[in-house]
This record gives sequence, C-alpha cells and structure tokens, in this order.
Amino acid sequence: MTGTKGASAVSSVKFGGHEARPTAASPAVSVPFTVREHLRHLFLDAKFVAISATLEALHLSRAAALAPDRLRGRGVIFTLHHVRPYDPTTFHASAHLEITPEFLDALIVHVRSLGYEPIALGDVPARLAARDDGPRFVAFTLDDGYRDNLVHALPVFERHAVPFTVFATSGFVTRERTVWWQTLEKTVAAVDELFWDTGDHRLRFGCAGRLAKAMTFRRVVDWMNTVDEDWAISTLDRIAGEHGVSATAVVDQEVMNPAELRRLAASPLATIGAHTWSHVNLRRVSHDRLADEIERGSAEIADLLGSRPTVFAYPYGSHASISVREFAAARPFDLAVTTEPGTLSQAHLDRLGALPRISVNGHYQRVEWVSVLMSGLPFRLIPHHPELD
Ligand SMILES: [Zn+2]
Repeated sequence: MTGTKGASAVSSVKFGGHEARPTAASPAVSVPFTVREHLRHLFLDAKFVAISATLEALHLSRAAALAPDRLRGRGVIFTLHHVRPYDPTTFHASAHLEITPEFLDALIVHVRSLGYEPIALGDVPARLAARDDGPRFVAFTLDDGYRDNLVHALPVFERHAVPFTVFATSGFVTRERTVWWQTLEKTVAAVDELFWDTGDHRLRFGCAGRLAKAMTFRRVVDWMNTVDEDWAISTLDRIAGEHGVSATAVVDQEVMNPAELRRLAASPLATIGAHTWSHVNLRRVSHDRLADEIERGSAEIADLLGSRPTVFAYPYGSHASISVREFAAARPFDLAVTTEPGTLSQAHLDRLGALPRISVNGHYQRVEWVSVLMSGLPFRLIPHHPELD
C-alpha cells in the first residue's frame, strides 16, 4: 500500500533512510518499499545465482581440484549455525545459517574421502606447528548455542566420532538476552503487516508474502546497524510482543538452556567455546563493555560447566565487528575465530587470535561446492581485509 498524500497530519516521516507516507485507511503511516530496496533484493538473488554458478564452474572445470597446495593450506575450520530438518512452511530470513542433518552427515563422509582428518579446534595450533606431511585437518564449529546442535547435530557427530566446538553466548543460555535476528524472523513470519511505533509515529511495513517479508526483515536489520544495539533489541522485543511474539519464548525455543548445554558438554566429542555474554557487535561498544562482554561470557559458561572456555568466536565475526582492539581483548584465549573466509596455513600460528573459517552456507548445500571452498581458490576472488592479519 502506498497511501494517499495528505490523508493525515503527517506528510512524511523517516525510518532509517525510508520515507513514510500516511494512508487514509489507518492512523498508521505506511512505509512503501523503495525502488532501491527492490533492486537490492534482485541483486541478492542474482548474487546467489552467480555464486552458485561460480562454485559449479570451479567444480566442473576441475580448477579447484587442481588448485595449488599452498591455497589449500594445512586444513580448514567450518562454521555452522543451525542443524535441523528444513521446514518449507515458514519464512526463513536466515536460511544461509541452517543446514540439514543429512547434509552434515554427507559433508563428514565427503571431507574424510578427500583425506581430511576431523580434529578438535583446540588441536589446530599443534597441527599447524607440526612439520610433517600428515593428513590435512578439518575442525567443525557451531555458533550461538542452538538447541538443534544437541538434538540434530550431536547424533551425527557421534555416529562419525567427529569432534566439534559449540560457541555459546552465555546470555542466550541464561535467557537474560534475546536473539534479535530470531525474534525478527519469527515476527515477520507471523504477520502480514508490521506496525512499528517510533514514539512520534506508528509506521506500517508490508509483510504479506515472502518478498515483502524478506525486504522488511532487511529494512529492520539495516536500522539496527545504525542505532545502539541494546536499545534496538529492547525496541524490537517490545514490537514483537505487540504482534504476539514473545522474544523470551523465541530464545527459549531456539537456544539450549543450562541443562541442555551441560548434556552437550558431557559428550567427549564436544568443546564449549565462548561467544561473549550478549552477542553485541564488539567493535561498536566501549572498552569497558568489550572487556565485560568477554569476561562475563566466559565466567558464566564456567559457572554452568565447571571450567572456563579456552577458545572464542567473535560475534558476527567479520571485519565490521572486529579490529585490533578486539583481538587484544581476546588474548586470554588459546585461539579465536572470525567469520572471514579462508584456509589455514602455518602462517596462522602468528594470528591465532583471528583464524579464518569457511561457512557451510545453507544456500549452497552441495558437498562438491564445499570442496571448491576448501581448495582456497574462491578466496582469491574475495576482497581482503588487512586489519585481520
Ligand atoms: Zn554468533
């Protein structure tokens, strides 16, 4: 709905960079999708197609299989998030953060067939330091502490005797903090219209159909990146509640509680790593908050499990959320991982606080494509961020 100009006292308001127009039908102000938002959606769709085509071309041409050994390095660390059966009946804003248990199973079989040895993340430094020509290694990591890691991923790892690390955000586990992207996804999925009270205005965002849901999700994410994260989350939690979605119920549904985290940690294959207290973008907080996030996140995991985590994953993990200051703050850990892509070589022994990982992306669930990524070749095509060296 685009509304009729002049139908209310409000002629134009702003939400982020979006112009809102009042409508005759309601005191709420409709915020239509802009041409730019439509174009960006098309661009993201095109990007998926282009990446898939590139991965397929590198696979079929055997370019990746023939890539030089130095690109392949000594091994890789995989990043996973959710592992659960795909539910086609609901809206998935974060489908890239979700793979099926069947794909995880197939991936483990595949990497072993390539000669990679699954190892615990804590053993990575020793393997990088080893001078032998032994097998390459693969370390599996899963971020955030989702319940499906216990329900669906653990049985797969146990079936294959594969070690893995779960990076748990302690505030999610204790339910003191909500998972904003899950709250937003569930809210957008549940409604045809999202009403957003800014204090001055009541805005209305379209959510009828998958396209509108995806664009509204993206619009709110953009807004969150421009305002204080704590305030944004409390605002989002309130708005979700106004639409019948409890943010606390969402974190309860999605993330392991203390008893479940203990059950997972009891597996000899499992390592529980630290992932801060609140999952805030560390680059956007004060020095004191940065130190507190890391200390509290570790201390609370230690309270729950009896020992402090020795490995750490930066929330979000890209160059937009970490720099030199954050690396220094993570120095107490034996190693820390980012989400910047790459394979691991001996040179990473000097950068154990910023190890790259390969995301096992839900949009690209084909073992051949993961093989292409493990060759290291595609990362030659991705922009490099020198602050992560
Ligand atoms: Zn995370």
